[in-house]
Amino acid sequence: MLNKHYDNLFEVELDTMIKKEKTIDNQYHTVFNDTLFYVKSGGMESDRGFINNEELLDIYVEDNEVWHVTKSKLNDPIHIQVDLNYRLFKSQIHSAQHLMCTIMNTDYHAKTIMFKTGELESEIEMGFDSLNRDILNEIERKCNEHIREDISIVISYPTKEEALENIWEDYGDDFDWNTQLRSVAIPGIDYDLCACIHVPSLRYIQGIKFLGYEKTTRGFKISFVAGSQLFDYIQKHYDVFHEASKSLAIAQLEINESIQKLFQEKKDLTSSLNDYKQKYFDFLAKDLCATPNTYLFEEFNSMDIKSFQQLCSTITNHYDKGIIFVLKIDEKCHVVVAKNKSIDIQANEIFKSIAQTYELKGGGNPVISQGGGIYSSDLVNHCKSLINKMNEA
Ligand SMILES: [Zn+2]
Repeated sequence: MLNKHYDNLFEVELDTMIKKEKTIDNQYHTVFNDTLFYVKSGGMESDRGFINNEELLDIYVEDNEVWHVTKSKLNDPIHIQVDLNYRLFKSQIHSAQHLMCTIMNTDYHAKTIMFKTGELESEIEMGFDSLNRDILNEIERKCNEHIREDISIVISYPTKEEALENIWEDYGDDFDWNTQLRSVAIPGIDYDLCACIHVPSLRYIQGIKFLGYEKTTRGFKISFVAGSQLFDYIQKHYDVFHEASKSLAIAQLEINESIQKLFQEKKDLTSSLNDYKQKYFDFLAKDLCATPNTYLFEEFNSMDIKSFQQLCSTITNHYDKGIIFVLKIDEKCHVVVAKNKSIDIQANEIFKSIAQTYELKGGGNPVISQGGGIYSSDLVNHCKSLINKMNEA
C-alpha cells in the first residue's frame, strides 16, 4: 500500500496515537493513526525499528491497515523510530537495481527477470543472450559515472495516462492500473512504477561493484554489492583474508598459491604414508602367517576400515591362507572372510552363515566377503571356533 512517508527515506521519527489494538498469542498487534514503517512488498523487506522503545517484531497489512506487532502492550502517546541504517542499506541496493537494470535493458536489451537483496551480497537475473566480464565492467563504469553525476530520484503520483506516456516496460496483464500509481524516475535514465523506498539521489548509492555472473536457463544471474553492503563485503572478506594470511604467514595475494602448495605437500605426504603403511602391513602379514595353520583368526580394534581391508588383502594375496578377521569399531564391528585363490573354501558361504546368526549386513564373492553389524564377544568366539574347526579338518 502507498504511504507518502515512504517518499522520504530520512523521515524516521514520528509521533502518533493508537487507533486500534488486539492480542494474538501473547503478542500485541496495534494500528496507529499514522506510520512510517515500510511493509514488505515489491521485493523490499519491511523496515525494522522501535515503538516507544519497544522493538517492532513484525508488521503486516490487513484490510488496508498496517498492524505493528510488539512483545509488550503499547500506550499513547506513540513515538515511532525507524532503523535508518537498515533502511538505507536496502534502499541503496534497491535504487542501484533501478539504475543497473535500466542500463542493461536499454543498452543490451536484457530484460529484468528477478532481483534479490541478500545480507552479504545481492543479485539480479537478466535476460542477456551472452555476457562477459568486459560487458559487466562497462555497465559498472556507466552506473558509477551516473552515481558521480548525482542525478535526483524523483517520486511522483501520475495518472494512468501520464504513466503510460513515460513507461517503456511492459507491466503485463496482471498490473492493476486502478490503484494509485507512484512513479520513480531517474530523469534521462529511468522511469518506473514502484512503491518501494529509494535514495533521494544517486550519490547515496555510493558505488556499485559487480562480483560475478553465471548462466541460467533464462539468462544470466549477476551478483553485486552496492552502498553500505559494498563496505561490509570488503571488510568481511578482508578479515578472512587477513586471518588466512596470518595463519599461512604469507601475503594476502599469495594465499591461493600457498594453498596449492599445501595441497601438493599433503598429496605427497599421503602417498609416502601409504608406502610406509604397506611396508608395515607386509611385516605384520609375515608375522601373522608364520604359523603352520592354513586358517587364521585375528581381532583388531585400532584401525580404520580401509587399512583393515588393506591388511586382509595383503595376507590373502601373498600367503596360502584363509582368514576370518574382525575389526571392532566402538559398539560395532566389521568382519572380513577372505582366502588366497589356492585355498578351497567359499568365503561368501562362510560369511553368510556368520551374517545370518549375528545379523551382519554385507556380502561378496567366494574369494572375499565382508560386512558389518553389532560387536559381541559371542561373535568373536564363534569365528574363532570356526577357524579352529577348519584347521582341524
Ligand atoms: Zn523501486
